[in-house]
Amino acid sequence: MKDNERKKLIEAAVEARENSYSPYSGFSVGAALLSASGKVYTGANIESASYTPTVCAERVAFFTAVHSGERDFSAIAIVGGSSEKGISSFTPPCGVCRQVMAEFAKADLEIILYDGKEMKVFTLSELLPMGFGKSNLE
Ligand SMILES: [Zn+2]
Repeated sequence: MKDNERKKLIEAAVEARENSYSPYSGFSVGAALLSASGKVYTGANIESASYTPTVCAERVAFFTAVHSGERDFSAIAIVGGSSEKGISSFTPPCGVCRQVMAEFAKADLEIILYDGKEMKVFTLSELLPMGFGKSNLE
């Protein structure tokens, strides 16, 4: 994937972050997921007063895409930061989201992080080494 394509995905994640509902943590996250078909699905974190039902931006993006019939993905951009101060550091996906990514994406899924200045690119296999998946149940 080219850097200009990654930047477009980051821009979509930054825009998606604007719709974060995070009054409890004060930490807004946006994600933009690129499917193999070329469509971009976005998500933002959505919190609940009882905490447990809270969903991360990455899973909102993945579940929206899967619900739309997508099953093949090439990259996801993730941005996060204080709702007041903005994006100031890299926001890696939590363990639960990494597991969901492994369910629907291949090991070479690009995970693009952005701190407001620079990007870092990882593959899913780098962020979830020796993950548990479908093949373990065969
Ligand atoms: Zn997460």
